[in-house]
Amino acid sequence: MNDSPYIGRFAPTPSGYLHFGSLVAALASYLDARSVGGQWLLRMEDLDPPREMPGAQDAILHSLETYGFEWDGELVRQSARHHEYTALIRRLFEQGLAYACTCSRKQLEGSGGLYPGTCRNAGHPDHDAAIRLRVPELEYRFTDRVQGEFRQHLGREVGDFVIRRRDGLFAYQLAVVLDDAWQGVTDVVRGADLLDSTPRQLYLQELLGLPQPRYLHVPLIIQPDGHKLGKSYRSPPLPTDQAPPLLVRALRALGQRPPAELGNANPREVLAWGIAHWDASSIPRSRTLAEAQLR
Ligand code: GLU
Ligand code: ZN
Repeated sequence: MNDSPYIGRFAPTPSGYLHFGSLVAALASYLDARSVGGQWLLRMEDLDPPREMPGAQDAILHSLETYGFEWDGELVRQSARHHEYTALIRRLFEQGLAYACTCSRKQLEGSGGLYPGTCRNAGHPDHDAAIRLRVPELEYRFTDRVQGEFRQHLGREVGDFVIRRRDGLFAYQLAVVLDDAWQGVTDVVRGADLLDSTPRQLYLQELLGLPQPRYLHVPLIIQPDGHKLGKSYRSPPLPTDQAPPLLVRALRALGQRPPAELGNANPREVLAWGIAHWDASSIPRSRTLAEAQLR
């Protein structure tokens, strides 16, 4: 099984239960890995305890098992990697690639989300402050396997971004890049809400001399009321008694054409069908998909 150089992963944040949108992302990364005999790793992105929902980690693992997913190796938790993140941030700070920012939320209001660079050359010490990474005045681009060419100018569209919050919490952008490289991930398959984050991650990879994985961003599932399924909006857990039909619906969301009877199979059988018939080129080239259209 592990003769393929492909290493994929699923990296849920335990701020809530898995929902249909996360099932679609998990399924895409799983099938993309298994269809070429690759590994599929699981990483819990538990960087933000205040936003963690009690019980969410167990519920996520339980859902994945109920839906038939099997991951390789031990589950990795980002909460066990603080030492590595701290060491990296210290190095970036000492090299002047990152700097301390003492701006209050209020001070940052009105700059349209783009950091105005107030503390860039202030030389603040690194405690009681957020740490921001300097971004170059450059456009970063990559070719997503589904969404095609994506480009973003880091200076003009993103600005210097936070890699450690003032309260000491580490930023997703930094942790994800470090951990994907540490785990040897060759292929990142995830929701299209993270397309906008990818250029920041490309810059971090370049800065740290890390290899760049391939990227595949699947459409984000939108609820009938226009809600994005996910973080801010707390969805109910995936039902445990409907795994096969929901897996079949997730396959359809990914442009695959499972036969209707597959909804009566067991979860493992649905996944096996998905592996045997996986065609990434059929995934809709769209950033969002309305859940209502899939029923
Ligand atoms: N933890 C992130 C999320 O749940 C996904 C990270 C990733 O796949 O890069 O949105
Ligand atoms: Zn500042």
